[in-house]
Amino acid sequence: MKPLQIVFLGTAASVPTRDRNLSSIALKYSGNWLLFDCPEGTQRQMMATNVSYMKIKYVFISHFHGDHFLGLPGLLATMSMHGREETLTIFGPKGVEDYIKKAVELSMLQINFQINCVQIKSGRILKEDEYEIKAFKLNHDVPCFGFVFKEEDKLGEFKRDKVIKLGIPEGPLWRKLQKGENIIYGEKQIRPEDVLDLSKAKKGKKISIVFDTRANYSYIEAIKESDILIHEASFTEELKKRAIETKHSTALEAANIAKEAKVRKLYLFHISSRYKDPLEIENEAKKMFANSYVAKDLLKIEIL
Ligand SMILES: [Zn+2]
Ligand SMILES: [Zn+2]
Repeated sequence: MKPLQIVFLGTAASVPTRDRNLSSIALKYSGNWLLFDCPEGTQRQMMATNVSYMKIKYVFISHFHGDHFLGLPGLLATMSMHGREETLTIFGPKGVEDYIKKAVELSMLQINFQINCVQIKSGRILKEDEYEIKAFKLNHDVPCFGFVFKEEDKLGEFKRDKVIKLGIPEGPLWRKLQKGENIIYGEKQIRPEDVLDLSKAKKGKKISIVFDTRANYSYIEAIKESDILIHEASFTEELKKRAIETKHSTALEAANIAKEAKVRKLYLFHISSRYKDPLEIENEAKKMFANSYVAKDLLKIEIL
C-alpha cells in the first residue's frame, strides 16, 4: 500500500472565476499522475502545484462539454514539445478517438508520442498492479461518467521470514501469495495464510469522483464506503429548478448521496460562479452530511 495524493486543479462550473479554474482533479499514486478532466487553464494550475504533466500516465475525460476537455490540445502540445516519449492513454465516452484527433489537429503540432484512446464503458476500465479504475454512468445531458480509484486490499501482513524459510524465491510467487493465491512450490502447496498475518488485513483506499450529474441513487453502489467522495455541487437548493434543467446537483443532494453511500468525507466542487461565498454551498451540505467541505483550487490532500 502506498501514499496517495489528490490535487484539486480546478473547482468551478462552466466558466472560470478569479479564484476558481474549471474543474479538474489530479491523483498521484506510485510515482504516476492520473488526470481527471482537462479544461482550459489546467496546465497553469499544474505549474502552481507539484503536478508533473510529464508524469501523467492516464487522462480520464468525464464528458465532452467544453468546460471539461478544452485544455487537452494545449496539454498534448506541451508534452510533445518537452520530448515526451511514453504512450499516453486517454479514456473518454463514445467518440473519444475522434475528439482527440480533432484536438491534435487544433494544436497544429506534430505529436511525437503515441496516444491511445479508450472508450469508457461502465465497470472496470483499467487494472494496474496495485489499483484499478472503475467507471460508472452519470445522469447528464450528454454521456458522462464518474470514476472510482480503488487500491488493492491488503489481505494481511506478509511474513518475509516465513517465505524465505520455505525457500520460495522473491518474485512472482511472492506476489501471488500476497494477492491471496495458492502456489505450488517444490511439489508442495503453499497457502496465503501460511505466510500472511491475516489479523493485519487492511482495506485499500477508495476515492470516487462524480462529475456533472443530477444526483441520484444509480451510482451509490459504485461509490459505496469511499474514503473520499468528490462530488459536483453546482447549485444550492434555492436554484434546484435550474439544477434539474441543466442536469446538475445541489449541495444538499450531493450530501445526501455521501450519506447514503456511507463515505467518510465529502468534497464538493464544480461550483457555479454565482456563489461568491463557498460557505453557502458548504453549510447546506453540512446539514445533511457533517463531514462536507467545498474544495478550493490547488487544495492538496494526502492519504497514507
Ligand atoms: Zn461542467
Ligand atoms: Zn457538463
